[in-house]
Amino acid sequence: MRKYLALFFVFVLIIACNEQKNEALNGSESEKTEAEDHGFGIVIHGGAGTILKENMTDSLEAAYRSKLKEAITVGHEILKNGGNAMEAVTKTINILEDSPLFNAGKGAVFTHEETNELDASVMDGATLNAGAVAGVTHIKNPIDLAVAVMDNSDHVMLSGKGAEVFAQTQGFELTAPSYFYTEKRFRSLQYIKDKEKAQLDHDQKVSFEDPFIKDSKFGTVGCAALDKNGNLAAGTSTGGMTNKRWNRIGDAPIIGAGTYANNATCAVSSTGWGEYFIRAMVAYDISALMEYKGLSLQEAASEVIQKKVPALGGDGGIVAIDNKGNVAMEFNTAGMYRAHMNAAGELVIGIYKNH
Ligand code: ASP
Repeated sequence: MRKYLALFFVFVLIIACNEQKNEALNGSESEKTEAEDHGFGIVIHGGAGTILKENMTDSLEAAYRSKLKEAITVGHEILKNGGNAMEAVTKTINILEDSPLFNAGKGAVFTHEETNELDASVMDGATLNAGAVAGVTHIKNPIDLAVAVMDNSDHVMLSGKGAEVFAQTQGFELTAPSYFYTEKRFRSLQYIKDKEKAQLDHDQKVSFEDPFIKDSKFGTVGCAALDKNGNLAAGTSTGGMTNKRWNRIGDAPIIGAGTYANNATCAVSSTGWGEYFIRAMVAYDISALMEYKGLSLQEAASEVIQKKVPALGGDGGIVAIDNKGNVAMEFNTAGMYRAHMNAAGELVIGIYKNH
């Protein structure tokens, strides 16, 4: 009898083991299917500010919409063909950097000294690697240099001349500063300087509440993407604020403020009044609210952009995508240049509050 009992137990054990093996196999298979089935998506911004329909001509609006569409299509094609999120982010941002319409690369605003100082950053959500450059003056596409810092240096952030020495070791060409001259940006600088002078002549403090000065920053560009492998990436590139001095650096090159990506949560790119975005740690805070409080991307984005930043006195917006392809395009200004394209290729472009 004992012999039969022992045999019975061995039999039960073999069946149990087999069941477990099957479960394990099914588990990894369903994980694999999930990974393969990952939706993908991409979202971009071209800056947030007092962007009002009544101040816009039809042709300028058409130019913005068409450049946003061109840029996002480039990134979307990369993702559709199985390319990675980081490549989609940087190639998309390159298009915006090369356009004079946006305050980044070619269209960068002028500093008080009539120069252009550019900032950019990227973050890879899969590895949590990041790269950033601040205050570069001879780099046509600062986002590419941020990637080089991430991939080929031991550092996260390089600035000014040193960043450009590093750029040369990476084969970057130094671009003549005259490349960044655009009449529109130069006139904005003169306008602000004249206002500043008039205010100082009347012994008045220069007010950053002045709508023109306040909005002298908008046009920064950024992108966040989710690829077919479930990897997230984000990047941001800017000329900063018109009339900035003393090598002022905003949030755009600061990981956690201007840019953040983490496969566990989301990828975020910010635009707005940098000083406030640094203090509110905007991009990381959105991710942290998802990670630690279980908020959805949309809930986290509105918490930070509609409550936390305005409570400090700041304004601006973000674009973000989570690890399931949900997108947020949240801003507390009158408008934000923005676009989103999902895996099905459906495109949404917006400029003003509701369209
Ligand atoms: N955040 C940028 C900065 O403060 C400007 C902007 O996004 O409008 O430099």
